[in-house]
Amino acid sequence: MAPVTLAPSPITPTVDFDRDGVQHGFLRLPYSRDDSAWGSVMIPITVVRNGSGPTALLTGANHGDEYEGAVALFDLSQTLTADRVAGRVIIVPAMNYPAFQAGTRTSPIDKGNLNRSFPGRPDGTVTQKIADYFTRELLPLADLVMDIHSGGRTLDFVPFAAAHILPDKDQEARCFAAVAAFAAPYSMRMLEIDAVGMYDTAAEEQGKTFVTTELGGGGTGRAETIAIAKRGVRNVLHHAGILTGDQPSDAQAAEASRWLDMPSADCFRFAEDSGLIEACVDLGQPVRKGDLLARIHPIGRTGLAPSEYRAALDGILAARHFPGLVKAGDCIAVVGTVES
Ligand code: CA
Repeated sequence: MAPVTLAPSPITPTVDFDRDGVQHGFLRLPYSRDDSAWGSVMIPITVVRNGSGPTALLTGANHGDEYEGAVALFDLSQTLTADRVAGRVIIVPAMNYPAFQAGTRTSPIDKGNLNRSFPGRPDGTVTQKIADYFTRELLPLADLVMDIHSGGRTLDFVPFAAAHILPDKDQEARCFAAVAAFAAPYSMRMLEIDAVGMYDTAAEEQGKTFVTTELGGGGTGRAETIAIAKRGVRNVLHHAGILTGDQPSDAQAAEASRWLDMPSADCFRFAEDSGLIEACVDLGQPVRKGDLLARIHPIGRTGLAPSEYRAALDGILAARHFPGLVKAGDCIAVVGTVES
């Protein structure tokens, strides 16, 4: 098959990735529309570079309603100085910027779910163009890639950093070493329901050291989870040798992190009914196989028994549906197994 030649990305960075010092600018993506004929989407970006060395690419708000990454990275962008860096840090606090501005998971422009849009297209939708720019322009610059997720409006998680089981065991070891360095309360060997189109997959296929997280959720950030994000980002940059100086947090956190695994699809429980959810276990609590995780009450009339959802394996409740009403098909619980 002849190689497909892709058009150049329409995105123009206003920063120079090869210049030393701190630069704040934009990824400017032309977006012609009713209220701005020659308008653009302006995605904020910071580049901090000090000489040669590895590059870290840090992103938040890949999903627009997830806030720990955005807070930690907007904060980092205005506090990180070049003299603390050996190499380069590229910071994009709000990767799917239109979705972030709208406070929604997907883009209000094209309904694009950025984390299902990779590798993207230079001639596609706005969301596909963002994905393409990361795939062909930013990921190739990076050695270490960290994408900070949370649960968004509909899910809530125990705070964890995560990586995936990979075919390249050297790469997998690099990824899990970075997860350990992040030092979240939990560290996860993560199984994806649907890995096609994910940024994770694009980064991993380019051989990058890739770390992701799930830090809370519910469409907001909490003081505890924001602090975990801010500390974790600095821990991983320090681990990679990009952030110089003293270890930014106490080493105790890494020892305290509990390793979780998602050994099979049995981890996930999906609603088969719509209605009012009754949580029977809270996040972080231990469960045994067969324990009741949640009940769903029909809401059309009184006097009906709820349906019951039970754990299929031993572990802890690692994630739960956040809103009080659920629809058939919603993921209502994830049980992570505890590594001994
Ligand atoms: Ca997410």
